[in-house]
Amino acid sequence: MFGSLQGRSVIVTGASRGIGRGIAQRFGAEGCRLLVVSRQRSEAETVAAEITAAGGEARAFAADVTRQADMEAMAAVARESFGGIDILCANAGIFPAAKLGVMTAADFDAVVSTNLKGTFLAVSACLPAMKARMAGRIILTSSITGPITGYPGWSHYGASKAGQLGFMRTAAIELAPYGITVNAVLPGNIATEGLAALGADYMHSMAASVPMRRLGSVTDVANGALFFASDEAGYITGQSLVIDGGQILPESLAALEG
Ligand code: NAP
Repeated sequence: MFGSLQGRSVIVTGASRGIGRGIAQRFGAEGCRLLVVSRQRSEAETVAAEITAAGGEARAFAADVTRQADMEAMAAVARESFGGIDILCANAGIFPAAKLGVMTAADFDAVVSTNLKGTFLAVSACLPAMKARMAGRIILTSSITGPITGYPGWSHYGASKAGQLGFMRTAAIELAPYGITVNAVLPGNIATEGLAALGADYMHSMAASVPMRRLGSVTDVANGALFFASDEAGYITGQSLVIDGGQILPESLAALEG
């Protein structure tokens, strides 16, 4: 149904595990050339090797999205390795919990620095390559938490994820003349290593609050990212796609039971 993305150059930040790994593997299966980015080189290399073993093309790069020099080096390596940057999936994120009254300024800075400033730095670093080709696809991994819902302990996280959408809307306007689209996927609760770290009770209660009665898979999110990267989505920019099994829909617990 959709055109091929064969040979496209793709950067995925936070690709060593979880949703980023799923996105990288999905694009790898489509014949894209992947730069798998995370702070831990060995874990990124493992994912790159998995993609290569499956018949794709990938290399790993160790970088911290909070560091401008790292993001510029990341973009340079993608250009050198693959001849350009077609698609950026700005996915790296952290979600440590801390309720107000306990949350420190350092806690707040760490989350906003990774999730929001990291998005800005990754996008900024990739723009020269995209503008040079007058084409590009930028897909942000936001969340339902912040833009739509709230959850105790995640006021800083919610602010960072809502902030990504504010960033996206103006970026989409500024970059449209260059043929670059900027869109966001908003996952609900997705079964990842990061989510598992919140504990089995959290995972079970979240699955029970989803009308589809299961957590999402990383492939569910990757499919949304793939759509935004497609040629067919070329006239869609500044938009967000909720991928949550219906989690934001019930007005009450009774609505779920009925
Ligand atoms: P995860 O399993 O904890 O994976 C996070 C990834 O980000 C890892 O590859 C990690 O590798 C990387 N990372 C973290 N900080 C980084 C930094 N400063 N620089 C570069 N890479 C960094 O998390 P996940 O559940 O897949 O979540 C991925 C994204 O989806 C996040 O933006 C998150 O907010 C969003 N999300 C997740 C869910 C969910 O239910 N899982 C729901 C909504 C939104 P290193 O530690 O090696 O750097």
